[in-house]
Amino acid sequence: MYFGSVKFFKHLILTVVFGWIIIATGLALFFGIKYFLYSKDLKQDSGEATGNVLNIPDNMPFEQIYLLLCAKGYSPDDIISFLADNEPVAFENFINNYILLSPDDSSDIEDNGGSELLNTDTSLEYTKLYPELYANPPSEFVTPENVVYLTFDDGPSKNTKEILRILKKYDIKATFFMSGGYDENTAEMIKLVSDAGHTIGVHSLSHKYTEVYESMESFLEDFNNTYMSIYEATGVKPQLYRFPGGSVNNYNRFISAQLISEVVRRGFVYHDWNVSGEDAASGANWSSIYNNVINGIKSNSSGRAVILLHDSSDKYTTVTTLEDIIDKLLAEGYTFEPLDNTVKPFTFSYTE
Ligand code: ZN
Repeated sequence: MYFGSVKFFKHLILTVVFGWIIIATGLALFFGIKYFLYSKDLKQDSGEATGNVLNIPDNMPFEQIYLLLCAKGYSPDDIISFLADNEPVAFENFINNYILLSPDDSSDIEDNGGSELLNTDTSLEYTKLYPELYANPPSEFVTPENVVYLTFDDGPSKNTKEILRILKKYDIKATFFMSGGYDENTAEMIKLVSDAGHTIGVHSLSHKYTEVYESMESFLEDFNNTYMSIYEATGVKPQLYRFPGGSVNNYNRFISAQLISEVVRRGFVYHDWNVSGEDAASGANWSSIYNNVINGIKSNSSGRAVILLHDSSDKYTTVTTLEDIIDKLLAEGYTFEPLDNTVKPFTFSYTE
C-alpha cells in the first residue's frame, strides 16, 4: 500500500521541501522586481523634481518653489532637506526672505502689536485685492488679569443656540470665530450671536487647509468670503481673525510670516489661544475637555486665558461640558470677558 509506506513519506518530505524552495524563490523574485520598479519610479520622480527646481530662476519666490514641490507630493521636511542639499541658492533666499516664527522671535511681535511684521510693501499684487477688507487697529493693547476668554470656532451650527442659552444663563459674553456662511439659517444664527452681545471674529468659510493656504490670493479670498458673510448678516465689521489651524501650522509654515503680515497690515488683530479644550481631538469626552481646560488654566502663569473650544455641529460634547467649566472657573474667581481688538493676543509664537 502506497499511503503510509516509506516511499509515501519520502515523497511527502521531498514535495514539502521543494515546495518551500519554489515558493521562497517566487516570493524573492516578485518582491525583487517590485522593489526594482519602485526605486526606478522614485529616481524618475526625483529627477523630475530636480529638473523643475533647476529650471527655476534664482529670484523665484521660495513660496512658489515650495508649492510646486508640495503639489508633487513632497513633505515640507523633504523639501527643506532637498533644497538645502541641491539648491543652496533657493535655500539661502528662503532663509533670508522668509521669517519662520519661533518662540525666540515672538516677544518682539507681541510687544509692538505685530508692527514688526507690518508689511508696507504695497507693490505686492495681493495687497490690492479686496479694498474693503480692512479693520481699525488698536493704538495699544490691554492685559487684564484673572480673566478668561471663551472662544468658539467653526460655527455657527445647531450647537450655537445651546451655547448662547448657557452663556445667557450666566450672563457671560464670549467670542465666536466663525466660519460664517451665506444660507438663510446661518445668517440668522450669526445675527443671533451678534445681537446677544458676543464678539464675532473671522475664521474660515472653507476651512480646507490645503486650499486656504495654497497662496496669498486663495487665503485672502477665503478671508474675504468669511468676513463678508458675517458683515452682511450682522451689519458689524469684524475686527478679529483666527487662522484655521492656528497662525503657524504645518500647512502654512512657509508663508505664515506673509499671512500674518498681511492680516496685520489690514488692521486685524489675530488670536491664537493659550488653553485648548482639545474638543476637536478624536475621542474627546466630557472629562478630557473639562480637564484640558481647567488644568490648562492652572498651568499657565499669565493670569488670563484664551480658551479654544468649538461650536461646530458635531461638537455636542463641548456643550455638555460648558456649564461645568464655567461653574468651576467662576468659583475660582475668574471673570469671563469677550475679546475685542484691544485685548493683547496670545499667538503661538508668543511666550509671556
Ligand atoms: Zn477651525
